[in-house]
Amino acid sequence: MGKKVLIIGAGGVGNVVTHKCAQVPEVFSEIVLASRTKAKCDAIAADVNRPVQTEQVDADDVRPLVRLIEKHRPDVVINVALPYQDLTIMDACLETGVDYLDTANYEPPDEAKFEYKWQWAYHDRYRDEGIMALLGSGFDPGVTNVFCAYAQKHYYDEIHTIDIVDCNAGEHGHPFATNFNPEINIREITQKGRYWQNGRWVEIEPMSIRKEIDYPDVGPRASYVLYHEELESLVKHIKGLKRIRFWMTFGDEYLTHLRVLQNVGMTRIDEVEFEGHKIVPIKFLKALLPDPGSLGATYTGKTCIGVIFDGVKDGRRKQMMIYNVCDHAACYNEVKAQAVSYTTGVPAMIGAKMMLEGKWRGAGVFNMEQFDPDPFMEDLNRYGLPWHILDGKTIDN
Ligand code: NDP
Repeated sequence: MGKKVLIIGAGGVGNVVTHKCAQVPEVFSEIVLASRTKAKCDAIAADVNRPVQTEQVDADDVRPLVRLIEKHRPDVVINVALPYQDLTIMDACLETGVDYLDTANYEPPDEAKFEYKWQWAYHDRYRDEGIMALLGSGFDPGVTNVFCAYAQKHYYDEIHTIDIVDCNAGEHGHPFATNFNPEINIREITQKGRYWQNGRWVEIEPMSIRKEIDYPDVGPRASYVLYHEELESLVKHIKGLKRIRFWMTFGDEYLTHLRVLQNVGMTRIDEVEFEGHKIVPIKFLKALLPDPGSLGATYTGKTCIGVIFDGVKDGRRKQMMIYNVCDHAACYNEVKAQAVSYTTGVPAMIGAKMMLEGKWRGAGVFNMEQFDPDPFMEDLNRYGLPWHILDGKTIDN
């Protein structure tokens, strides 16, 4: 029997999630889309070939969220608003007894710091209520965690090193734009980098470790070590791990713009006084930059995101990569979105599908790699994100 989903957030990712849920009516029989600006929900609903109910909601506040959930009684809430809303939406789900899913972990608005501790702290309350929260069901975090669980289940006795590699080799035609929410994106890459080695975190200056990585279907690209949230859960759940790092590609043009913006103070996240008003420079910058949702129409090229493993199987060394390649223009043809929104929205739909079908169940708060990766991997192939395995691939070849 079909179930009802409430999607919160009508941005680039919300658009994809709504389209993809609509493509699976046997699971998602009713869809409600709510966001701060109802007109954005209506525009998405008008483009979907099934009825989608739309609502206005301020997700910074628990009370209107509880009213919204009580009005619609969904079976699951998919949070694709911003990380700042994670805790209010988790509170509202707890109060109403409804399952929760998101794609990015909580960040306090006044501190560029993302950690699972705030959301993991809900575990006992969710368990006692008998409901489930699935954290980080996008691509990275999300599919990358599932790739790790899949490698651990089928290919390794011990995984010694993991390198998560995220390449966007697309061209959007703007001198500077971010592929998802500019404020969240710039906060992520201007903070200190971090990776995990031999049982401890190693902190590095932003963008200070660079390497040319050869990406399947895309070729060699300059990649930089960043801190990324899935590292925090994967170090807990992968056996025998000695090192885990996260790499992302950036072009020289992008880095030059970013350096200038940082140097002049435009990426600051604290309030400054301007002509009698208080403004937060990074929020003002967001207003000036292209809306990531608008980039799709002219975007060309591909993304390649995957995980490179090194470890041991049956006493022998084993190296390999699991990855997906996604074409910006093909995504736009299907759901009017570029590949970064697409690769996030599809796994959000699949994660919710796993929960509603009972393939992934549990009471409490969970990360993706804690569940059986097989049904999720099957659905990636089925719903637009086919994956491949490259045997013998290392971070250096
Ligand atoms: P957008 O900025 O395009 O969309 C966010 C949406 O949330 C907007 O429609 C916005 O409304 C709405 N929103 C913001 N604040 C509130 C609020 N207080 N109440 C209700 N609605 C609100 O972002 P994206 O779609 O690019 O990203 C969505 C999420 O996906 C983010 O959390 C991002 O970090 C995550 N993400 C995860 C990835 C992964 O691989 N795991 C990759 C990329 C993104 P309005 O339009 O009115 O401002």
